[in-house]
Amino acid sequence: MGLRYEKIHVCPNDCILYRNENESAKSCPECNLSRYKKKEGVPAKVLGYFPIIPRFKRMYSDPVDAEKLTWHKFGRKKVGLLRHPADSPQWRFIDGQLPDFGSEERNLRLGLSTDGMNSYSSLSSIHSTWPVMLVAYNLPPSLCMKRKYIMLSMLISGPKQPGNDIDEYLAPLINDLKLLWEEGVEVFDANRNEMFNFRAMLFCTIQDYPAYGNLSIL
Ligand SMILES: [Zn+2]
Repeated sequence: MGLRYEKIHVCPNDCILYRNENESAKSCPECNLSRYKKKEGVPAKVLGYFPIIPRFKRMYSDPVDAEKLTWHKFGRKKVGLLRHPADSPQWRFIDGQLPDFGSEERNLRLGLSTDGMNSYSSLSSIHSTWPVMLVAYNLPPSLCMKRKYIMLSMLISGPKQPGNDIDEYLAPLINDLKLLWEEGVEVFDANRNEMFNFRAMLFCTIQDYPAYGNLSIL
C-alpha cells in the first residue's frame, strides 16, 4: 500500500536519535555509549516511526473516508449539547481565531495519546513500551475511537519508559506535524475529485497524569 515505516536507531540512554547530523555516528555524542550491541550492525535501541503524511493522503484517497472526515461540518447535529469535541468552545475558538485553518473543513484536528504498556506481560511493569496514537476528531463519535481510524504513529521501545526524554523520540512526528500546521501538503480528495492544501493541528493530548508531565515539556 506504499505505507512505509522508518526504523530510527536511538541512544539507549535516550540522548539522541541517529538521524540528521548524527545519522552516521557510531556512538552517542552526549554519553559516548555505542550505537550498536556487541555485534556491529545490531542497533542497541530502535524507534519505530510510521510517517503520518502518506497515511493521511491514503485516508483522503478513499471517497467514503474522505466524506466522513468532513462530518464535523456537514454531518453533525448542533443541539447545544457537548457530545463530541466539535461541540466544544475550543473547536469554535479555532474556527473564530484561525479562520484560514478552520474554514477548510478537511483540515484535521488531531488528538495525540500515549502511555506505557508492557507488550510481554499485562501485569509486570518492568518493561515499558510507549505507542503514540493519533485520533482524527473530524470523524463522528462512532468512528473516531474505532481501531480502524486510530493511527499508530510511533512505537518507543522499552525496556524503560522515555520519561521527559520523550521529546527526543517525538521529533520525527513533530517535524511532520509542524509541516502540516505551517505549510500543509497537496492531497487528493477522492470524494470531491480535486487536490487541496491539507493541513492538520494538534487539537489535544490524552494521557494519564504522569505522562501529562512528560508531554507538557514539549
Ligand atoms: Zn547517549
